[in-house]
Amino acid sequence: MVTNPLDEASGTGEASLAGRLARIRSEITRASEAAGRDREPELIVVTKFHPSSLIRDLHALGERNFGESRHPEAREKVHELHELDEVTWHFIGQIQSKKARQIGRYIDVIHSIDRVQLVDALVPLHTERERPIEAFAQLNLTNDAARGGAQLDELLHLAEAIEASPVLTLRGVMAIAPLDEPAEAAFDRVVQASERLVGTFPHAVDRSMGMSGDFQAAIERGATHLRIGAAITGKRPIAT
Ligand SMILES: *Cc1c(COP(=O)(O)O)cnc(C)c1O
Repeated sequence: MVTNPLDEASGTGEASLAGRLARIRSEITRASEAAGRDREPELIVVTKFHPSSLIRDLHALGERNFGESRHPEAREKVHELHELDEVTWHFIGQIQSKKARQIGRYIDVIHSIDRVQLVDALVPLHTERERPIEAFAQLNLTNDAARGGAQLDELLHLAEAIEASPVLTLRGVMAIAPLDEPAEAAFDRVVQASERLVGTFPHAVDRSMGMSGDFQAAIERGATHLRIGAAITGKRPIAT
């Protein structure tokens, strides 16, 4: 396990976890006020590649929403940390169809539903799960299918499948801003897609967008869920 000696949860400086978390929280508040938002978006701290001990520290600092992007790493953390109160686990990474059902056994929210095949793969869980999985239809903001996400013209069809699933409830749209264009322009396209989605599914108002480098722009454009990793956790350990 990799831990940074500067990451003392008890500290308050920029070099500490608590200091970085406090700074991001206050930036979220400031950006929400500047945008005239009456509710702040929900912060999901992305803890992928970090050890469970970091999630414990974040929990002690009051965080309850954690984002993971890989199975089985996510499953191991959920099991190891099952005694933590009131945690909501978010899956944000690309999902192989053959892994979908395993992920659906332990996760509360999936942000990365990007094809009908995944929806179908989750259906058998309806006899096992007590509560539905909250689901976002992921929109691909590039022309590169390998990036994950449905193209805009497939999004409504995907949302219909999610809505019809006995295992999933549709929350809204998720997207990752591409690196090769301004985040503002990318998020404007998410807003358009979101408005279209809400036209057909009036309850599906949520927008999961905004990461360490672009969350202020996402807040301006109505993000309801921010997925922030490195700006809070510090640099990720190298993926293995
Ligand atoms: C890793 C990741 C994030 C967090 O990115 P940071 O730049 O570390 O804030 C957000 N969303 C997704 C889908 C990710 O994979």
